[in-house]
Amino acid sequence: MAVSSPEISSILTPHPRLTDSHGRIIHDLRVSITDRCNYKCVYCRTGEMGAQYPELGIDEYLRLIKLFVSLGISKVRLTGGEPLLRRGLVDLVRQLSALPTLTGGPLDLALTTNGHLLDELAAPLKAAGLNRVTVSMDAVDAPTFERITHVPGSFQTVLAGIRAARAAGLTPLKINCVLLRGFNDSQIEGFARFAREENVVVRFIEFMPLEEGRLWTPEIVVPLAEIVARIGRLLPLVKLPPREASETAQRYTFKDGVGEIGIIAPVSQAFCGACSRVRLTSDGKIRTCLFSQVEHDLYGRLRSGETNAELRTYILRTVQEKEARHHMGEPGFLKPSRSMVHIGG
Ligand code: SF4
Repeated sequence: MAVSSPEISSILTPHPRLTDSHGRIIHDLRVSITDRCNYKCVYCRTGEMGAQYPELGIDEYLRLIKLFVSLGISKVRLTGGEPLLRRGLVDLVRQLSALPTLTGGPLDLALTTNGHLLDELAAPLKAAGLNRVTVSMDAVDAPTFERITHVPGSFQTVLAGIRAARAAGLTPLKINCVLLRGFNDSQIEGFARFAREENVVVRFIEFMPLEEGRLWTPEIVVPLAEIVARIGRLLPLVKLPPREASETAQRYTFKDGVGEIGIIAPVSQAFCGACSRVRLTSDGKIRTCLFSQVEHDLYGRLRSGETNAELRTYILRTVQEKEARHHMGEPGFLKPSRSMVHIGG
């Protein structure tokens, strides 16, 4: 494979940075530390698959993440499956929070969880150095919530987890709600009130074809424009500017300034042009895009004894090949080689 000049210069510069062939700087790494989950949400685990992939040791994740940080990653999000199920998580957070980035500042350390174990783990995670959490929550009433998660009693448990995280200072606290027409689109107005009452940032996510089964159709997607129109009828919305170009959510506040809403619209208003993300799966594979058809076995190279310098070169070359964008809804679109629970949010 011919080595391009930007690639040579990027590898040869003292601190090569992760960039792709589309000129995007990659500074955001999402790491799945397990594909096990204690929930069975209708839009994700629609099959009987259960956990499919092996997990690495906590020290192995640490070694791999350090390599990415040495190449310019400044934001790490821990995901799953359900990351709070992983033993050693608090220790991993402690070690990651002590890692300096290339600019010398601390890592921006975040975590996405279903919140079921958050009540007991929020304070220890905060004390270990976690900055903030995002809780996946798809309804604001118990019957709808538990119909989605298939876990009786889970609604109050997650609510307690959210309040514990806020009390621990894991803020800004974000709530991610995946909207499916006919499942929970009835929750839109309730979530707008919830954002104001609970002082959390509620983000609606357009449903993507990443589920285990075959549930996704274009008709089941509730697009950004419809969400904005419905909430706007309840309370006038004001658009907020993005904090950074690669921000995935379009942000809004209410006219009276109380509460914030975000909408992540990969289907109706894709944001791939400024994408700054790559992923590491629970079994140590690099996925350069959520919708990648191919994966890159970084862990296999580590196990085969490659040096850190060789692993860094492999990461740099792999990220150079990052896909330009997704092709959802286009002829010939292929679902990714793994479903969301096995990729990580
Ligand atoms: S679909 Fe791929 S390229 Fe687009 S924003 Fe997501 S990860 Fe980035």
